[in-house]
Amino acid sequence: MKAVVAQETGPPSVMTWTDAEPPKPAPDECVVKVEACGACMHEVLVRRGQMPGTFPIIPGHEVVGEVVETGADVVDFAVGDRVVTNQRQRVCGKCRECRMGRETRCPRKVFLGDVGLNGGYAELVAVSDGSLVKVPPGITSPHVAIASCAIGTQLNALRDVARLELGETVLVTGAGGGVGLHAIQLARASGARVVAQTTSPKKVEAVREAGADEIVLVERGVDYSKDVMAVTDGRGCDVVLENVGAASFASSVKTVALHGRLVLVGEVQKTPPRVDADLVGWRRRDISIRSAASTTRRQLEDVLSLMERGVVTPVVTDVLPMSEAPRAHEILESGSATGRILLVPDTAG
Ligand SMILES: [Zn+2]
Ligand SMILES: [Zn+2]
Repeated sequence: MKAVVAQETGPPSVMTWTDAEPPKPAPDECVVKVEACGACMHEVLVRRGQMPGTFPIIPGHEVVGEVVETGADVVDFAVGDRVVTNQRQRVCGKCRECRMGRETRCPRKVFLGDVGLNGGYAELVAVSDGSLVKVPPGITSPHVAIASCAIGTQLNALRDVARLELGETVLVTGAGGGVGLHAIQLARASGARVVAQTTSPKKVEAVREAGADEIVLVERGVDYSKDVMAVTDGRGCDVVLENVGAASFASSVKTVALHGRLVLVGEVQKTPPRVDADLVGWRRRDISIRSAASTTRRQLEDVLSLMERGVVTPVVTDVLPMSEAPRAHEILESGSATGRILLVPDTAG
């Protein structure tokens, strides 16, 4: 088969579209013929050596495709099923975390396309059956590939970590990016008032289109807490989704309302934000700081249901052939993309 192989850590050019050994399914795996695979910052960080990875590796964890072969123990999927992947693989389903519904924290989990497991920048990929969900027939677009990472993680953060309630106010940071735009849609669908923060004038239109009630546009590095307080009558936000990380944390934490919840999303920041208890004002504001990563299978199923009913629409701005994976990574590194990037096998269609 053909695949994008990253030979070693380094610049985007370490990835080439080349011949690779086709995967054989383990007993609990399905081989999926890849229709499309999302390009994600996670892969950029692995490629740069800033997150763990084994090389050579085929990157990619946001796959939609068709099951073409099943391992001996697979019972829930059959050849011909159209499926989408979750980020976490080999979630055991038996440990305490899994039994508590926190499968994203299963100690046995591994990621598709970084340490030891080849991913979806390829014509074929082997995926464990516990990390696959069937795509409902109402969804035909390949954009569904990004359902888990770009949408599911935000659903996890808003609904299951922050426990967002009808009528509350949400701040979405990094609102014009590939995750932020989906957070706005989800928060709106939950009956929240959405304040969206972005540093890019070019992304304002997309942020407005996604459903933001208020847009706070400030230059990178500038404290935006006063602007957020101004549009919330000095009250702040009940839920703050911190998609950016250390760079905006100090501003974000000042915008949390009394009894509010700040959720750090993703774990791609090299330097974690420093928490200043005084700034947090825990004595006076009773706020909590939590984190959310990845998506459970149930959350992914819920995202697909929302997509099928048109409540959430995946925002994809570029579709590139896999041979142009290096260009996809350059776009990701520049931070210029509004929405996500999809890669399709050069041989598709
Ligand atoms: Zn487990
Ligand atoms: Zn991802």
